[in-house]
Amino acid sequence: MTRTAIVTGSTSGIGEGIARALAASGFNVVINGFGDAVTIERLRVAIEAEHKVKCLYSGADMTKTDQIEAMFATTREALGPVDVLVNNAGVQYVSPVEDFPVAKWDLIIALNLSSAFHTTRLAFPDMKARKWGRIVNIASAHALVASPFKSAYVAAKHGILGFTKSTALEGATFGIRVNAICPGYVRTPLVENQIADTAKARGISEEAVVRDVLLAAQPTKEFVKVSDVAALAVFLTSEAANQINGAALSIDGGWVAQ
Ligand code: NAD
Repeated sequence: MTRTAIVTGSTSGIGEGIARALAASGFNVVINGFGDAVTIERLRVAIEAEHKVKCLYSGADMTKTDQIEAMFATTREALGPVDVLVNNAGVQYVSPVEDFPVAKWDLIIALNLSSAFHTTRLAFPDMKARKWGRIVNIASAHALVASPFKSAYVAAKHGILGFTKSTALEGATFGIRVNAICPGYVRTPLVENQIADTAKARGISEEAVVRDVLLAAQPTKEFVKVSDVAALAVFLTSEAANQINGAALSIDGGWVAQ
């Protein structure tokens, strides 16, 4: 039977790459996120046509508990229980802590951290009953180390690592595996916006941000590719990854080795 995967925040960037890669390896997928309706429908149809799987779109706002619950109910009805959950939706905001807008703090904690609690609590009962489930939390190098001006993001990403470990222990004897991927910089729309914001916060040019802030942290001096992160996520759903549980897997060109 075809297994079902939900990838949150998959209308763009890393999530889109993971949704496409899971479809390529035979999963029915639920894509989620914001954006232009025509572009999203084109993505949905392309995934179905290219990979001969079913693809649903949910526009659920992952900061809204009732919408997350509705996304799970719709998925279950249309595609069956969720076998693979990828918690990927996330945003960034860059600001000195004393000026950090309270609404931005609340948004980042709700989206980058609490949404994974809601999706996980909704996925666990079926995974436990079926004795199989894979949860992949897209954390960040910022789950392991910090940078200035990213207090909310760093707090949420460190938090998701703790949540990963705790739920990995809870699911361990039920065939559930929960792991976190910790990417370094991947040149997605999230990072493009951050380049502009960091230039403003530090009073330097965008070229200087890429060279002296982003890639300065990454020993390979190269961005991580979306396809690299997607391949790792797919590997974590495979049987070969069965003993990987509660891990924080870095894919960052050596950033946190320093
Ligand atoms: P992106 O901006 O390209 O994609 C973010 C996705 O989340 C989009 O599909 C967007 O529509 C969706 N989204 C935003 N708000 C949402 C909401 N309220 N509800 C549902 N969906 C929502 O970003 P990305 O770079 O692909 O980031 C994806 C994840 O990877 C994030 O958790 C991010 O923290 C993490 N990450 C990114 C990098 C990087 O360098 N790009 C590095 C480490 C970790």
